[in-house]
Order: sequence, then C-alpha cells, then structure tokens
Amino acid sequence: MEKVLKKSDLGQWVARLKDFDLYGPVRENNHWEFNQISQLANFPEDYTQVNVPLKKILLPNREVLFQFEDNRNGGPYLQEVLPEEREVVVFGVRPCDARGIVLLEKVFSSEIPDIYFERRRQQVYVVGLSCYPLPGENCFCLSLGGGPFSTKGMDILLTKMQSKYFVEVLTPKGEKLIKAAPEYFFNPTDKDQQERQQLERKARAMFTRQIEGVEKIWPVLSQMFESPLWREESYRCLKCGICTYLCPTCHCFDITDEISSTAPLQGKRVRVWDTCQFPDFTMHSSGHNPRPDKASRLRQRIMHKFLYFVETFGDIMCTGCGRCVSKCPVGIDIIDILNKVASHGA
Ligand code: SF4
Ligand code: SF4
Repeated sequence: MEKVLKKSDLGQWVARLKDFDLYGPVRENNHWEFNQISQLANFPEDYTQVNVPLKKILLPNREVLFQFEDNRNGGPYLQEVLPEEREVVVFGVRPCDARGIVLLEKVFSSEIPDIYFERRRQQVYVVGLSCYPLPGENCFCLSLGGGPFSTKGMDILLTKMQSKYFVEVLTPKGEKLIKAAPEYFFNPTDKDQQERQQLERKARAMFTRQIEGVEKIWPVLSQMFESPLWREESYRCLKCGICTYLCPTCHCFDITDEISSTAPLQGKRVRVWDTCQFPDFTMHSSGHNPRPDKASRLRQRIMHKFLYFVETFGDIMCTGCGRCVSKCPVGIDIIDILNKVASHGA
C-alpha cells in the first residue's frame, strides 16, 4: 500500500503511537544513535547513519539468559529471564540496516529459533528512511543486491520529498501503525509517484564505491585460504573489534556465568557480543589457537561473510553499509579487499 504524509503531520502521527516504546536517531556529540524518544517532529537534514545499528535492540550487547541460585532454602534453582513484553517502533532505519535484520533472522529464527531474539523481533516495528542523499561516502549496498530505497526488513519505508513523505506500507505491522492516525495519510498522486521514482534514480547515481564483479567473490574465496592477501591487508589491524561490533550482520557472542563470591551461591548466565577479531576468540582450553594471528582473523571475517554464510544460507552476510570502512581506526577497507579478491577471478 502506498500513501503520502505531510511533513508537518509526522509529529502528530508519532504522538498517536502512545502504546509503543519509540526509538529514533538522536545526535550524541558527533554521531547518531538509536535512542528512546518521546516525539519526532522531523528527521534532521544532517541525519546520516546511526553508529550502532538496529541489532543493539534485537540482540543487545549484554543480556541475561537466566538466573540461578542455591536452592537448599527451598527457593527456585533456575529462573528463565525472557525479554520484557514491549512493542517498539524504530524510526529512521536505513535500508542497509533493515536488510541486516533479514540476515540475522537467518541465524536466529531458523530451525532452532533463539527465543530471546525471536521475542524481540516480533515486538519490533521498523519504519525506514530511504537514502537520498546517501548517508555515507562508503555506502556500497548497490553492489550487494541492496539499494538506497530497498524495503527488505521494513514495515514502512518513508521517503522524504519536498513537502511530504512518500509512505510505502509493507506489512500488517506497518498497516497497524498507520491505522493509529489514518486521517493523516492520503493516496499519492501521479506527481508524487514520479517524484519518488526520480529521487530513487538520483540516489542510485550517487554511489562512488562499488565492488566490480561481486559474483566472482565466493567461488574465488574458496581458493584463497593460503593467500598472502590476508597478511598484507591485516598487518595494521589493532584488534579493536569496531568493524564487527558496529556491523549490522555480525552476531558472534560469548556466554559466561557471573557468580556471587559469597554464600549463598547466586548467579546469572549472560550473553555478550564477541568478535572474531579478538586474539582469544578461538582460544582452546588446551592453549592451542587455530587463528593465532591477525591474517587468519581477517580471513575469517571475510570468509564468513562472503563464503561460509553463502554456502549455509544462500546469501552474503554484508549489506554494504560501509561502517567497517568508515569506523576502522586504521583504514582497513573491506571494499578494497573484495575488489582484490574479485580480481583474482578475472
Ligand atoms: S576496526 Fe580495523 S583495526 Fe579494529 S579490528 Fe577491525 S579491521 Fe582491525
Ligand atoms: S561488513 Fe562492513 S559494510 Fe558489510 S554490513 Fe558489516 S559493517 Fe557494513
């Protein structure tokens, strides 16, 4: 379903969504984050891309899975801690980050669903914002089957036009949101449709970064396990993990038990984000580490996204958001690396 919403009515619509927790892009010093908001009058002109993508809501960086205690006094031994029941609307999600949710679903909502992720996913409503102009200089979603107006993973996609938003309502969840204030939504005119198409064409023409021959990557990668490329590209890596923590699709985690140091014994089982870029990520208890150096860890990051995930789920585990390029403190550039990989298959 397609509608239009006057820019001046955005705030009125959002005010009607009283039953939801609302999140939107909020400026923090020199970057943007999805934080809880009480109102949303507009999307600021300088809003680009949030620092930490939507996965922070679906897969928090730290979550308690269950609590346990010594039950000699008759108390419960183990208590499951499920995510709280609250419906959340996130505004201003860029298409690359919404596609990231679809890729996370392949992992966490598959044959054996992760109940924590699933419960949050069911409660999250995604209101996207198309990318005109492009949010970042390292955007390359077009090379990976995405696009600045992609609707994958969204319930609603808003496109900022001159005086209105073009509103694409994509799911029953999206319909529920606009039903909260139906008087603000109108059918688009032919002129609105044309303006929307024109903006998409302009946005697609703005990309400066791309991968040449992305289809060559995964067949070539399987021949590149011993390539010197991994050492050449990783020598300056600081092992900080930023590239994976800020990635909308990276999802590795660790599970630890936090236990009280005094009696009675009490504790929590906690899941926290982890990263293949940390030296001890694959450390065995024997002391052996199958990925002992930066080269093998960079290789794992690329192979997981562009070979193993393709073999397992039939999709590339990267949406081309460009964060790992823009945020890497030493300028390790996944687009350059992938172009070098693709050139091996030329
Ligand atoms: S962000 Fe850059 S320096 Fe940090 S771990 Fe990733 S590649 Fe290495
Ligand atoms: S690998 Fe880099 S470009 Fe791809 S989705 Fe992750 S952060 Fe974005």
